[in-house]
Amino acid sequence: MENNLFRRIPKVDVLLETKQCKELIEQHGYQIVIESVREELEQIRAQILNGKLEEELLLQIDHILSSIGNRVREKEQFHIKKVYNGTGTILHTNLGRAPLSATHMQKIAEIASGYSNLEFNLEKGERGERYSHFETLLCKITGAQAAMAVNNNAAAVMLVLNTMAKGGEAIVSRGELVEVGGKFRIPDVMKQSGTILKEVGTTNKTHLADYEEAITEDTKVLMKVHTSNYRIFGFTESVPMKALTALKDKYQIPIIEDLGSGVLLNLEKYGLAHEPTVQESIQNGADVVCFSGDKLLGGPQAGIIVGKKNYIDQMKRNQLTRALRIDKFTACALETVLREYLCEENAIKNIPVLEMITRPLEKVQEAAEDLCEKLKREALPAVISIQKCMSQIGGGSLPMEQIESRAVSIRPHFISTELFAKRLRTLPIPVIGRVVDENFLLDMRTFDQTGDVHFVEALKKNQIFKVDR
Ligand SMILES: *Cc1c(COP(=O)(O)O)cnc(C)c1O
Repeated sequence: MENNLFRRIPKVDVLLETKQCKELIEQHGYQIVIESVREELEQIRAQILNGKLEEELLLQIDHILSSIGNRVREKEQFHIKKVYNGTGTILHTNLGRAPLSATHMQKIAEIASGYSNLEFNLEKGERGERYSHFETLLCKITGAQAAMAVNNNAAAVMLVLNTMAKGGEAIVSRGELVEVGGKFRIPDVMKQSGTILKEVGTTNKTHLADYEEAITEDTKVLMKVHTSNYRIFGFTESVPMKALTALKDKYQIPIIEDLGSGVLLNLEKYGLAHEPTVQESIQNGADVVCFSGDKLLGGPQAGIIVGKKNYIDQMKRNQLTRALRIDKFTACALETVLREYLCEENAIKNIPVLEMITRPLEKVQEAAEDLCEKLKREALPAVISIQKCMSQIGGGSLPMEQIESRAVSIRPHFISTELFAKRLRTLPIPVIGRVVDENFLLDMRTFDQTGDVHFVEALKKNQIFKVDR
């Protein structure tokens, strides 16, 4: 019987001569089609050997041309894809953290798709500096003397320490030894930079005297790390930047601060908890401050470093900088996004992260009602409703903050919510949501409303709600 089945498998050249394959070759090229044909035949042979039911195999052979077509189209699909984020987490690290606006991207495309003055001083006609495009902006916004940027904030921490404290000691409070996620730990990065970490105080309490007692001839910097992704409550004490400056003056030791989330405007105005801003850190006496470009700032992935000019100049000259330097995409994106901060209204309106954080609940409710209505019109086999939910900032920023929001809830009648969620992840533009108590929730604060039509169309295709035998 096995032999018999093998004889039923079509030959490669016969398949290639079919109208369907010829069309595929015309559209996608010979190589990808022949590869798909071979893979499909290989799979059928393996299944015969594994003893798959004859009836099923014959069916598969009948449909071989459409399977080949699917394989070809699958190969043509990009691996990295746009997705719709219905999780309600605004800075979702796994989903690319801060989205940039289409308008900002237009500017970036214009610069990156041609030549630019990335490192060319147009006035003098000689070599220029890639930081020049956003340094003045950063100084104006933060009040710092000088600024630069590297690939991410982890790199910034490393560069700052390597430049200012290599071969010496950096004093840090035990309450601020942060793990940022993805196993990135401040203490480990400090070691990589060639700096010896001197921990002072305890997890919950560190006093000014703890820092002072730890100072020796080898002390190169005092470091503060903003615990942006966790909070210690209760019997706690930490030394604010302002108080630490007493030691700076007495011992001539600079203070550096890793702010992590790097907010450039006061979020309290918008009903969120106070998050220390870069401006405050500089005002309170930090010599160097570093922070992420793609957390609350809402820009590209980057580690921004601002502070006293002599330190920033040393960092620009550090050989390590060459290994960590930003490219033209990032340089342009930083200028584009930072320009919005010259006017707070523009920043809130035009930077997607800030817009989502500050979007009024009524607007989210409207979006939810809109999508809910569209879905109900399709009479889908599911219970569809609007639910109250809470959005989160995410990305290790403002861990205690939740923003009231609204979700469109879908609970399929005949398949499990898990299976439904899984199928939505396989759509051409996957939709990622949250499953809570058997309901699939799409938080409309993060779900891009322009995706409504696509989403409704996708749900109308019957595979999504199909019951598997
Ligand atoms: C997030 C964070 C970092 C790492 O920043 P990346 O831009 O993700 O490299 C470092 N320090 C603190 C305190 C952070 O919150």
